[in-house]
Amino acid sequence: MGRSDMTPLGDTGTSSFNSELPAGGRHDLRYDQSPGAPETDNYTEGEGAFGYVHSYETGSRLDGPGFRVTLFVSGCPLRCQYCHNPDTWQLKHGTRVSLERVVARLGDFAPALRSMQGGLTISGGEALVQAAFTQRIFKAAKSLGLHTALDTSGFLGARATDEYLKSVDLVLLDIKSWDPETYRRVTGQEVGPTLRFAERLAAMNKPVWIRFVLVPGLTDGPANVEGVAKFVAPMKNVEWVEILPFHQLGAFKWKELGLDYQLADTPPASPELVARVIGQFRDAGCNVR
Ligand code: SF4
Repeated sequence: MGRSDMTPLGDTGTSSFNSELPAGGRHDLRYDQSPGAPETDNYTEGEGAFGYVHSYETGSRLDGPGFRVTLFVSGCPLRCQYCHNPDTWQLKHGTRVSLERVVARLGDFAPALRSMQGGLTISGGEALVQAAFTQRIFKAAKSLGLHTALDTSGFLGARATDEYLKSVDLVLLDIKSWDPETYRRVTGQEVGPTLRFAERLAAMNKPVWIRFVLVPGLTDGPANVEGVAKFVAPMKNVEWVEILPFHQLGAFKWKELGLDYQLADTPPASPELVARVIGQFRDAGCNVR
């Protein structure tokens, strides 16, 4: 939906602006929906009465157990080379939507989600850029009787307070690499905050699925894979490790946004490579798929 007529608004949470929640999904390109949005870096929220949303999709079976609604929110501090949603990096590319609208739409789906043992997953972008907004959505989802999952890189894990995590049943935690230099090359950020978040989740016994994006020539080094595997294997709260083979589905977004896409010539992960990496996680003692 076009937002070119939008008056820039402060982040007060008191605006009467109330866009519809944008349907669609992760493969849609969304650009400049809220040109008046604050800068994403150092974004300071109000009370989370509204937020910036890329899109939502229904019927996902990839983002947690059962049949799910996945909400993609805007804003991310990482710059993953393989990102298939670079249009979620900046808040201004998302649609400014009230909490009320999000919860009302979720309510429409709640009976179906409950009957199919599904729930709500919040992904992005990085859901913890808008921690107040996403916490309130999770809380509302719990009061609708839904299972909740947070899909995160963990880089902003310190923003997920214990109170926040009370409304989250499952964390889908992306550990994008073990080797600090590789992590930096892949994401532009440091790996430490993600590892500390993983340890905190383990200490509180919060159910976690670890996700590892397998990119030939980038994240597939045997020592890099083994580092992640040995780190998570002893964690009893980690139910699954999921290997996500790299694909090129997001390449068109980089081009449309005028971004420098480094992986244009990178092939998809071959079945042999996927099998080797699954074997490494299995040998370390992980449940892997
Ligand atoms: S954390 Fe996710 S949304 Fe952010 S850059 Fe990486 S892949 Fe893209």
